[in-house]
Amino acid sequence: MDCVFCKIAKGEIPSKKAYEDDSVLAFYDLDPKAPVHILIIPKRHIESVMEITPENSGIVAHLFEVAAKLARENNLTEGFRLVANTGKDGGQTVPHLHLHLLGGRSMKWPPG
Ligand code: AMP
Ligand code: ZN
Repeated sequence: MDCVFCKIAKGEIPSKKAYEDDSVLAFYDLDPKAPVHILIIPKRHIESVMEITPENSGIVAHLFEVAAKLARENNLTEGFRLVANTGKDGGQTVPHLHLHLLGGRSMKWPPG
C-alpha cells in the first residue's frame, strides 16, 4: 500500500523517532507547528478515526498512553494539545490514523 506512514512504520522512509514498541511509533513532524510536535501512529494501517471499531479500538488507548509518556518526557508541565485531524474538513492530509502531540507554547481556541 502506498501510505507514507506505513512506510515510516516499516523503516522504508526515515524518521526521527521519539518512541517505538511493537504496535506504536512516535516520530517528530517534518514541519513542526509548535516547539514540540510529535506524531503518534499505530504501526498497523487504520485510515482515520472513522475506521475505529470495537475490534481495533484498543490501540487508541495505547496511543493516548504514549502521548502522556512523551508529554512527561518533554516536560510539558503547563499542558499540551492532542489533535486527530479527520477527513477533508478536519484537515487530514495523511490517511493513516495519527495523533499530533503539540506543546511548548500556549494554544489558541477555537482552532482555525
Ligand atoms: P495531518 O495534516 O493531520 O494529516 O498531518 C500530517 C502530518 O504529517 C503533517 O503535520 C506533516 O507535516 C507530517 N508529515 C508528512 N510527511 C511526513 C514525514 N515523512 N515525516 C514526518 N512528518 C511528516
Ligand atoms: Zn498506512
